[in-house]
Amino acid sequence: MSHRFQCRCGQLQGQVDQPGRGVRVVCYCKDCQTYAHLLGHPERVLDPLGGTDIVATDSRYVRFTAGTQALACLSLSPRGLLRWYAKCCDTPIAATPRNWKLPYAGMVHTCLSQPDSLAQAFPQVQIRVNTQSAKDKPPGGAGVRGMARLTALMLRLIASRLRGGYRVSPFFDAQGVPVAKVVVAPRASVEQARLAGRRKGF
Ligand SMILES: [Zn+2]
Ligand SMILES: [Zn+2]
Repeated sequence: MSHRFQCRCGQLQGQVDQPGRGVRVVCYCKDCQTYAHLLGHPERVLDPLGGTDIVATDSRYVRFTAGTQALACLSLSPRGLLRWYAKCCDTPIAATPRNWKLPYAGMVHTCLSQPDSLAQAFPQVQIRVNTQSAKDKPPGGAGVRGMARLTALMLRLIASRLRGGYRVSPFFDAQGVPVAKVVVAPRASVEQARLAGRRKGF
C-alpha cells in the first residue's frame, strides 16, 4: 500500500510506501517553527501551539514520481537537518539527517494531505515531542505507545544502516550526495524567522 503526496501546486509528486509503518509525530521544536516562518506561510504548517505534524518513516519508503526539478533543500545552519521543500510553491516536504546512513525522513503534513487523505492513512497523532517549546500546554503527554513505535522505527533505521538499506533514498544519490544543492539560510534571516516564531499566533 502507498500514500500519494504532492506539493500545493501539484508539480512535485510522490508516494510513501508502507504508511502503516510510519509514526505520526507532532514536533514543537524551535527549529521546526523557525523553518515554517522562513519558508513563509507558517499558518499552513504550524498548529496554534507551534507544532508541526510529521510522519516519521524510513526514507527508502519515500519516492518522487513527478517534478523532482522542483525539489530544493534548505538548512538552518551548516550542521542542521536537511529540510526539503518544493520551491515551486514553498511547500515543506520532509526533513532528513545530513548523513544518509541514517535513513530517516520526517514527512511534513502539508504535502501529505493531498491527493490522498492524511487522516485516512495516518489516523492519529501518536506522540508529541519537544513540547517544552510549545506555545501552550499541548493535549495529552508523550504517549507511551507512540514512544515505543518511534523507538522501534529508530531501531529499524539503525538496522537498515548496517545492512546498507540507506542506499535507496530519493534524497541522496548513489554516493550519498544530496540530490539538490543544500542552501544554508543566511543567519540574519534565520534569526528573523526565529523571532517571528517566538511570537504568539502567526
Ligand atoms: Zn509546488
Ligand atoms: Zn522539530
